[in-house]
Amino acid sequence: MPLAFVDGRVVVGNGKVLERASVLVEGDRIAKVAARNFKTPKNCPRISLRGGTLLPGFIDAHVHLCLDGSPDPMTSLLNAPPVVSTLKAANFAHATLMAGVTTIRDMGSKDGIDFGLRQAIRAGIVPGPRMLVSGQLICMTGGHGWQQGREANGPEEVRKAAREQIKAGADLVKLMATGGVLTPAVEPGSEQFTEAELRAGIEEAHKAGKKTATHAMGTQGILNALRAGIDSIEHGVYLNDEAVELMRKRGVALIPTLAALCQIESNGVRAGIPAFAVEKTLKVKPFHLASIRLARKAGVPIALGTDAGTPFNRHGENLQEVKHLVRYGGFSPLEAIEAGTRVGAQVLGLEKELGTVEAGKLADLVVVDGDPLADIDIFLQPPSIRVVLQGGRIVKSNPKEEERG
Ligand SMILES: [Zn+2]
Repeated sequence: MPLAFVDGRVVVGNGKVLERASVLVEGDRIAKVAARNFKTPKNCPRISLRGGTLLPGFIDAHVHLCLDGSPDPMTSLLNAPPVVSTLKAANFAHATLMAGVTTIRDMGSKDGIDFGLRQAIRAGIVPGPRMLVSGQLICMTGGHGWQQGREANGPEEVRKAAREQIKAGADLVKLMATGGVLTPAVEPGSEQFTEAELRAGIEEAHKAGKKTATHAMGTQGILNALRAGIDSIEHGVYLNDEAVELMRKRGVALIPTLAALCQIESNGVRAGIPAFAVEKTLKVKPFHLASIRLARKAGVPIALGTDAGTPFNRHGENLQEVKHLVRYGGFSPLEAIEAGTRVGAQVLGLEKELGTVEAGKLADLVVVDGDPLADIDIFLQPPSIRVVLQGGRIVKSNPKEEERG
């Protein structure tokens, strides 16, 4: 049955905002978008958008459903039986969807949790966002993320590790180019995989038609990954002019994941976060903020990603990143929203299907109370999320908004 959203603001996702607009959904697709009311098919249910705003379903390009957002999630993962981590991940997937995030990219899992959950969501066994998954991240022995990663050394072993993830069903390959914050005794700025190792993993992914992403904080690691042909830079703490120019030229996106650093900084050691993680966060944050501004000024595509699952960076609070992009990145609210919709879809290679409210695309839509362009805090108040639509199906709704027409 078709479904109409009528008489309200529509953030299209391509720079346009329509007032008093209407959107018709048929099956799993958007059938029509008009800057006025239109005649809806007979008996078509109508949902009023009055006082609210309809947006594309959000895309979080960097989450870890196997991490639980506890003060020390890596230790928590190491100590939990896989079935416990899986059940927690299913709850996190549900919370993410209810927040208006209809697609996620899982950037490093363990024990096949991401593959299994993706399958269960597709089969309708549990509710959750569309999932693109990397399987295990690939890192050097003892490198950042080894707690959940596939350790590999030398180009041929990295090649094999990439083939293993693709064989298991990975949508993308994630490679660790530098150290990071949550692994003890590993410096965020330090180089990890060599350019040759990165190139081997990237070649395998590209041969299979898959994208690649790299955890890259330090400058040398970022440059190694860019020269090796990477498709997105995650975090990008120490960018320089050369890196930013390579990214702009090749359309390589930056996914800053500000929520991770902000939540570690604001909760700190007193909340139980390991001291080494807090110290590293405070050290890198000013450089990170400068890098985001540098990339934005140069015209590098920047997508919304949270690193949800890291300390106090809770699944279901993903849209805090909109606020961080505005506050720390200098984004306008519309630009930050589009980082989490249109740009995210491009990063995932799903720009033909998702990311904007346009006829022909999949009907992943969110309706919120009020005007998020005037008040981005709306996204962080759960009652403000009125309706979430996934592939044309209502997965969350506030029934009083519905009227027959
Ligand atoms: Zn991550």
